[in-house]
Amino acid sequence: MLTCLLNNQQICSLDLKDKYDEYIMEKLEYVKEASQNRQLVCEECGDIVILRAGNDKVPHFAHKNKNESCYWEKYGKKETEEHKKGKSIIYQYLKEKYIDAEISVNYRHSNIRRSDVFAKFKSGTQLAVEFLRIDMKITDWKEKHDFYKSNNINNIWLLSTKEYNKQDIKNVSIDFFEKFLAYKSDDDIIKFLNTKQQSIILIKKMEYKGRAYYKELFTKEYKIQDILIDMHGTINCDFKIQYDKAYQNFINNVLKREKTKKKAKSDKKFKVKTFKISEEQDKENREYVKKLIEQEKAKRNKK
Ligand SMILES: [Zn+2]
Repeated sequence: MLTCLLNNQQICSLDLKDKYDEYIMEKLEYVKEASQNRQLVCEECGDIVILRAGNDKVPHFAHKNKNESCYWEKYGKKETEEHKKGKSIIYQYLKEKYIDAEISVNYRHSNIRRSDVFAKFKSGTQLAVEFLRIDMKITDWKEKHDFYKSNNINNIWLLSTKEYNKQDIKNVSIDFFEKFLAYKSDDDIIKFLNTKQQSIILIKKMEYKGRAYYKELFTKEYKIQDILIDMHGTINCDFKIQYDKAYQNFINNVLKREKTKKKAKSDKKFKVKTFKISEEQDKENREYVKKLIEQEKAKRNKK
C-alpha cells in the first residue's frame, strides 16, 4: 500500500521521493524511524505496517503481520510494480503542476471504490486519474465511469504499455482500437502511459469512406513533462494539430489511390499485430456490447 497513518495523519510513501525519483533523506529517515517504532498503522484495519523503501521498487508499506481480512491483504497485494510505478509518476506529475491542489493516491470514495490518483483543485473541481491494464473488464470500466459521471468527477484513463513494447503500440490493430474505443474513451483518443519512458502515447483513428473504406491509426508520443493534463482531464499538447496534418496526408493518399481505380486493400496493410485479449474476455466484451446495442434500440423504440 502507498498510504498509511502516522499519528492519525495520512502519509504517502510516494512523498519520500522527489520528482527525479531520488529519496528525500530527511523524510525517509523520519518515516523509517516511525516504522521501527511501530507507529505506522494500516488505514483499513488499524494493524501495524512497516515501510519498505528500497532502490528497485516503489516505496510502500506492508502489514507487519498478515491480516487476511484487510482490504489491502486481499486486493492491494495484487497490485503490480508497474501499477505502483504508474501511480507514482502521475502523482508526482500532478503535485508538480498543481501546487495548490490536494493530490492523493488510492483515494477512497467508499469501501470498494477508489481512484488511483485523485486531485481536488481549489476551485472545487475534482479529477480522477486511472492507470489500468489493457485487459481491464469493460463492465468494470463502465461502472466506474458512470460513478464518476454521476458525481461530477472529471476523469482520465491511461493504459499501461507494460505488456507491449513501443513497436507493438504503434502497430495496435484497428480492430482492437475500435472495440476498445467505443466503450473506454470519451474523446476518441486512446491514451497510454509508458512508465519506463515517462511518456504519454496518444492514438486516434483516421478514416475515409470512398469507393472503399479506409482506416489508419495516428500515434504520437509525448514526454509527460511536455504536456498539460488539465483539471478536466484533457491533455493539452499539439496532438490535434499534428493529427489534422496527418489526416490531410491520409486523405490525399486515399484520393490518389481511389483515382487509380484499383481496388483498395486498405485493411491489409495496417493489421499487423493484435493485442492479446483472452477468449473469455473477448466473449464478455461482445456480450456487453450486444446488450448496450439492445438497450439503445429499446430506447429508440420508446421514442
Ligand atoms: Zn490492513
